[in-house]
Amino acid sequence: MSEPRMKLAVLTSGGDSAGMNAVVRAVVKTGIIRGCETWIVREGYEGLVRGNTQVHAIHPEPPTVPAAVKHAHGGQASNLLSNLRFGDGDLLRDGTGDHPGGRSLKGRYIVRVGWDDVRGWFAEGGTLIGTARSAVFRTTEGRLAAANNMIKEGIDALVVCGGDGSLSGADVFRSEWPKLVAELRSQGKITEEQAAKHGHLKIVGLVGSIDNDMSMTDLTIGAPTALHRICEAIDNINSTAASHSRAFVLEVMGRHCGWLALLAGVSSGADFIFIPERPPEANPWEDEMCAEIQRHREIGKRKTIVIVAEGAHDANLQPIRADYVKDVLTERLGLDTRVTTLGHTQRGGRPCAFDRILPTLQGEEAVKALLEATPETPSYMIGVRENKITRVPLMEAVAMTRAVAEAIAAKDFAKAMSLRDPEFHQSLEGFFATSALYKEKQLAHYKRMRVAIMHMGAPAGGMNAATRAAVRYCIRQGHRPLAIHNGFRGLLDDNIHELSWLGVDGWTARGGSELGTNRTLPDVDLGAVAARFQEHNFHALMMIGGFEAFNALLILDNGRKHYPAFHIPMVHLPATISNNVPMTEFSLGSDTSLNALVDACDSIKQSASASRNRVFVVETQGGKCGYIATMGALATGACIVYTPEHGMDLDTLRADVKFLKIRYGLDAKGRSEGRLVIRNEASSTVYTTDVITKMFKEEGGELFDSRSASLGHTLQGGVPSPMDRARAARLSLRCMAFLEEHHEELQKQPSKVKQAPPESAAVITIQGSAIKWVPVQEMLQHADMKNRRGKTAWWEDIRGLVEDLVGRSELL
Ligand code: ADP
Repeated sequence: MSEPRMKLAVLTSGGDSAGMNAVVRAVVKTGIIRGCETWIVREGYEGLVRGNTQVHAIHPEPPTVPAAVKHAHGGQASNLLSNLRFGDGDLLRDGTGDHPGGRSLKGRYIVRVGWDDVRGWFAEGGTLIGTARSAVFRTTEGRLAAANNMIKEGIDALVVCGGDGSLSGADVFRSEWPKLVAELRSQGKITEEQAAKHGHLKIVGLVGSIDNDMSMTDLTIGAPTALHRICEAIDNINSTAASHSRAFVLEVMGRHCGWLALLAGVSSGADFIFIPERPPEANPWEDEMCAEIQRHREIGKRKTIVIVAEGAHDANLQPIRADYVKDVLTERLGLDTRVTTLGHTQRGGRPCAFDRILPTLQGEEAVKALLEATPETPSYMIGVRENKITRVPLMEAVAMTRAVAEAIAAKDFAKAMSLRDPEFHQSLEGFFATSALYKEKQLAHYKRMRVAIMHMGAPAGGMNAATRAAVRYCIRQGHRPLAIHNGFRGLLDDNIHELSWLGVDGWTARGGSELGTNRTLPDVDLGAVAARFQEHNFHALMMIGGFEAFNALLILDNGRKHYPAFHIPMVHLPATISNNVPMTEFSLGSDTSLNALVDACDSIKQSASASRNRVFVVETQGGKCGYIATMGALATGACIVYTPEHGMDLDTLRADVKFLKIRYGLDAKGRSEGRLVIRNEASSTVYTTDVITKMFKEEGGELFDSRSASLGHTLQGGVPSPMDRARAARLSLRCMAFLEEHHEELQKQPSKVKQAPPESAAVITIQGSAIKWVPVQEMLQHADMKNRRGKTAWWEDIRGLVEDLVGRSELL
């Protein structure tokens, strides 16, 4: 067997977070595909210091390689086959004690793992390889022992997944490395040859932290799942709070970072929040909080939710504790108030879709960064910016993160806020705009609008949250929010009602469409539609929906030639589970749908694994857009994905069957895995889900069986995901600002008959981290109208990654 390109180890350190297992899985798999030997370190840096006192156990049953498997590397088995399994993955999964097979991890902290040892790790919360805080690693002696242990095993590269402490530790270790090696050599612990071979340590960091507290990256691994846990808890509390007309004060994690508290506040529609970066402005803050909550109660709100970040404090850095907030609410407002401290439930549980996708993409990038590292390159941290995986100098990110804590400690809250990303600012503004109830800031009369709000197409998570945000904003500004029920049909039937602040109160957490929705387009009777616009004196229109809404906007914009009533600002906020609206990377509802798919597939995979040797062909919705199928395949570890963009043909199917046969042939006896194949409903009219299920069954013979499952409308999801709710509020408020701006411009036109410019009929899109307005006519150039999707898809390359991570190209 040829020498590995690199021997790399991965460890998780500091506080655990969901998604850490996905990091380990991705690093191990990508490492093997790229010709490396892969190791894990148990118990973080502590394991590195302790090292191995026992000899390594090799898996008792090496795989028999089927004749059909291609032998790569000059007649030798591919790296995947050489590293198929070492057995330690099972030990790690079953705990670290003795294993029934007599094998044990006792005395072994640096453990070799193979391809199959990390299978199924995706869906598990926490970190299977253990994490710890290590005082001894903070000392030079500790790091000397760690270096010695690594060199003994021949490891020359390290992936660290942890918070800013862990990443600082990694950087200290790397910069000190040459000195450590010289010391070990002078103590005679390593040979001259070892010293020469290990002159440079390659290190890369991934941020595992539930707080989303790292600078220079938009999201940290584990934060989205923690937000899911918090929102689930608040959704449950909401119903009991309303029943008893109670107030609840929730304490959530976040010592120097209010991201969880803020996003939970926006996503759950809380009444008041306390975050470290922006203490309450009023002094005393108790008056401000009570006045706000009192206003909510006076208009009939039966429940109160206040969220307090663990590190919240007032402007003088005096901590604000949940118990104290409770006392204030009880004593001053006479509210029956309870405190709920969510504590460690926030860390736990199954990772949400994003905490599978992000660590997978970042784990892959980490291995690439290590392979390209030289003594001259800095240690990198893998982040995500603008929906792209990035590499940033690790110490720069750590320094910037610390600067936030320092700014807070120096009471420079403006600086602390300036170090947070723009999304944080927008979310905070959004929170105030949708939670505060005051009238004094309303716009001048001529700026006020009658805003029509409509849902279109199929329901999608976040539609109601977006409507709620729009309504609340309208009321604050002095506009009148007019809901058109049941789309254009409803408009023609005059099904229009003004919405109230309280009426939309619980809408953040509601799935489906509260306004009712359908696919009727305005050209069903454009003249009558224009007449309704005129009758109701609409000054602006917001349509929340999928491809239909885009189409409808196009029709209305074209209709401006004939109907003055359409010369008003009009926006489309994309909301569809298919994520098929051109130009935007994400539409509302796509995250909810992905999570619904992950939930369903986890259950299906469990069932498939229990029955062993079973391939489940899972059919997804999505129309002619394979986004959900592709991202779903990445998030569930599916081994094959069929999409309309890529299509299906006999050659591919033949290869797929061959791949499945080889793969099942390599499974250890009696320990075959249930496997998933995800097929978008419109991938082929001939090779239907039923046909390929039967074909796999027939071809699988003794090796594997096959079943199908259609997820159908379950993909619309029950309760919208926190990500969709937060995004809904943010985008909706941007839509309102856009409408206001164009309305004001129109008011300036001297003539009575206004001429709205083309850019005032636009779609709000997410392009990277930027929110961009695209005039609907420009959208047309990027739209594949026949297939109802964009002409290009940013996620198309993901398909290749899905295949790589199941070893397809290595095995076929
Ligand atoms: P987090 O990574 O979540 O911020 P900690 O700050 O507790 O958590 O750091 C985790 C571990 O990283 C520490 O227990 C220690 O072993 C190591 N570490 C942190 N800072 C340093 C440092 N400056 N030098 C060496 N090791 C460090």
